[in-house]
Amino acid sequence: MDNAKPLPKYLVQRYQGWKATGYAENEAWYRRLASDGQHPRAMVISCCDSRVHVTSIFGADQGEFFIHRNVANLVPPYELGGGGEQHGTSASVEYAVRVLKVAHVIVLGHSNCGGVTGCIDMCRGRAPQLEAKDSFVGRWINMLRPKYDLVADIDDPVEQQRQLEKHAVVTSLDNLMTFPFIEKEVISGELSLHGLWTDIGEGGLEYYDAKSDKFHPV
Ligand SMILES: [Zn+2]
Repeated sequence: MDNAKPLPKYLVQRYQGWKATGYAENEAWYRRLASDGQHPRAMVISCCDSRVHVTSIFGADQGEFFIHRNVANLVPPYELGGGGEQHGTSASVEYAVRVLKVAHVIVLGHSNCGGVTGCIDMCRGRAPQLEAKDSFVGRWINMLRPKYDLVADIDDPVEQQRQLEKHAVVTSLDNLMTFPFIEKEVISGELSLHGLWTDIGEGGLEYYDAKSDKFHPV
């Protein structure tokens, strides 16, 4: 590997600042984290979007959340093989549930999600670059395509986008239940699944209520 470069200076400076303050002031705590191993109570599956900050909105420290991030916070259905694909999201879910034995799996969607915008554009035929076979993003968000039909008639583009963002959360919850080890633990009551959607601009948080099949403010 000849192409890796040293860190840019601004990141080196930020790291050194953290080491001298954030780390130095909590050194014993970090050492205990390292020696005790991780015991997170919750796994969070959120979008890669840099504005989604799950540890901030819950005031969480290191060691509290096992976090997996991908484009549009999507969990694919349980699938063995799948043409030799490498299932990163499924591997994270398996580790969290079977090894770490988390009590909660939280899927966190968000407003202004670029992955969801891409899905809408693709479904409207406005994004040939995403339809291309070599678009990993296109193939990934294709998972959400069946839900577009449920929002296709919404005239307000902002509302349409929000509704599809929420459908992405519910799709992931449904797909989580296709994993046999998750279904088993949910039925036995050892594991609970939660759907959330955050409004970045408003700092809002809504949860999915399975009974009404709607999102409500937390
Ligand atoms: Zn997103």
